[in-house]
Amino acid sequence: MPFYDQYVEVMLSAEKIQARVKELGEQITREYQGKDLTLVGIMKGSLPFLTDLARHVDLPVTIEVMGVSSYQGGTETTGEVRITHDLTKPMANRHMLIVEDIIDTGLTMKFLIENLSARHPASVKVCTLLEKPSRAKVKVAIDYKGFVIEDRFVVGYGLDYGEKYRNLPFVGVMRTD
Ligand code: 5GP
Repeated sequence: MPFYDQYVEVMLSAEKIQARVKELGEQITREYQGKDLTLVGIMKGSLPFLTDLARHVDLPVTIEVMGVSSYQGGTETTGEVRITHDLTKPMANRHMLIVEDIIDTGLTMKFLIENLSARHPASVKVCTLLEKPSRAKVKVAIDYKGFVIEDRFVVGYGLDYGEKYRNLPFVGVMRTD
């Protein structure tokens, strides 16, 4: 039995995730034909998704990563976001696709769209593995979406709890039994 099975209950299996990531990659391939595309992964949560997705995009993409951290007011995010690692290349005239693990309140993504749009790219679009619509505080247009999930705290496939569980091949919820 894999080590993590005793702590985490599967919500989205590795097979289900891989099949959906492949579909998203194929859709991105079709929709960005002939364009200069940069995938911008948001650290650290998007990293497994970013690397799997990139391998299903059959285009000469470049990859950048950006680190952000949100200030916490109690347990809730305040919407104030700080850049902890910025892009290393100019983005003028490039098509940018932000790759994120999960959109919860939407505040982080709203900040990212505004911040990246100010760098004069050709376009900025959003790709997220997961969305929790019941928690949305701001409306964010999601162009590519893996799965819509209910309001549960999830871990795995990049998502952490105290920096752990990011390496699970599936997305799950912590067992309470
Ligand atoms: P937002 O600004 O949309 O509220 O927050 C997005 C960030 O919150 C995500 O990038 C992620 O780091 C964190 N987050 C939101 N929901 C979850 C969750 O269910 N599990 C984990 N591990 N992180 C979450």
